[in-house]
Amino acid sequence: QPIIQLENVSFSYSQEASRALTDVSLCIEQGEFVGVIGPSGAGKSTLAAVLSGAIPHHYRGAFYGAARVEGRDTCEISLTDIARVVGAVAQDIDAQMVASVVEDEMLFGLENFGVPHDQIEGRIQRALATVGIEQLRDREIATLSGGQKQKVAIAAILALEPRVLVLDEPTAALDPVSSRMVFETLREVNRVAGVTVVVIEQMVALLSEFCERVIVMNKGSVALDGTPREVFAHA
Ligand code: ADP
Ligand code: ADP
Repeated sequence: QPIIQLENVSFSYSQEASRALTDVSLCIEQGEFVGVIGPSGAGKSTLAAVLSGAIPHHYRGAFYGAARVEGRDTCEISLTDIARVVGAVAQDIDAQMVASVVEDEMLFGLENFGVPHDQIEGRIQRALATVGIEQLRDREIATLSGGQKQKVAIAAILALEPRVLVLDEPTAALDPVSSRMVFETLREVNRVAGVTVVVIEQMVALLSEFCERVIVMNKGSVALDGTPREVFAHA
């Protein structure tokens, strides 16, 4: 069974708005490292919001079709239950992060999830180690570089032990070197922690190097879906 399955999903943010997604069907399988690319307005962020359950849970609007996480319809389970499977790193991580110190940021999510106290230290250490930022544990988030902040956001979600990580353009504000480091981190998360990764990314070179599957969105639909070689041969 796929971890996430979308069946003929269409979505408009309001009755008047045109469709942000039109008839999208796709499966995300356990262990995949999937990139999503497409022009601005193509529906990439909207797709990420469907994968993480923010749509339909946070947005009013018109939702058609079905999205399933571990076989369960996202309309019928709580956002918290979805978040236990699918961890989302928002496009605006400064808005997503709530604490001023790295360790507190991680604690916040763990306590919210009701993780037993005797498991918390181990979870924090494992997540920091997977992302490679043990040395940042006591740092003020405001003093970190953009790339370091992305890694903190990833570690904080990873500590919640989701099966899937969905990231909306984690490299948007980063230079090429930091962008590559974020993708190397995601590769560790995928290979070592065994977490399925779905990442929106505009750099073809990064998608070609790191992803085994690329989904091209255009005008709210899946235009292409295949290996980087297959997909970029058309470009
Ligand atoms: P991107 O193209 O990188 O997804 P946008 O600039 O389109 O980013 O969107 C930034 C934020 O504004 C997102 O949270 C998105 O949901 C929201 N947004 C985008 N378009 C609209 C719109 N027409 N009305 C209201 N909010 C929007
Ligand atoms: P992308 O991420 O590929 O840039 P989006 O999913 O952000 O595309 O946007 C798809 C369409 O939905 C666009 O027309 C955008 O203006 C609209 N949209 C996105 N977010 C919102 C929102 N919060 N409210 C209203 N319209 C939105």
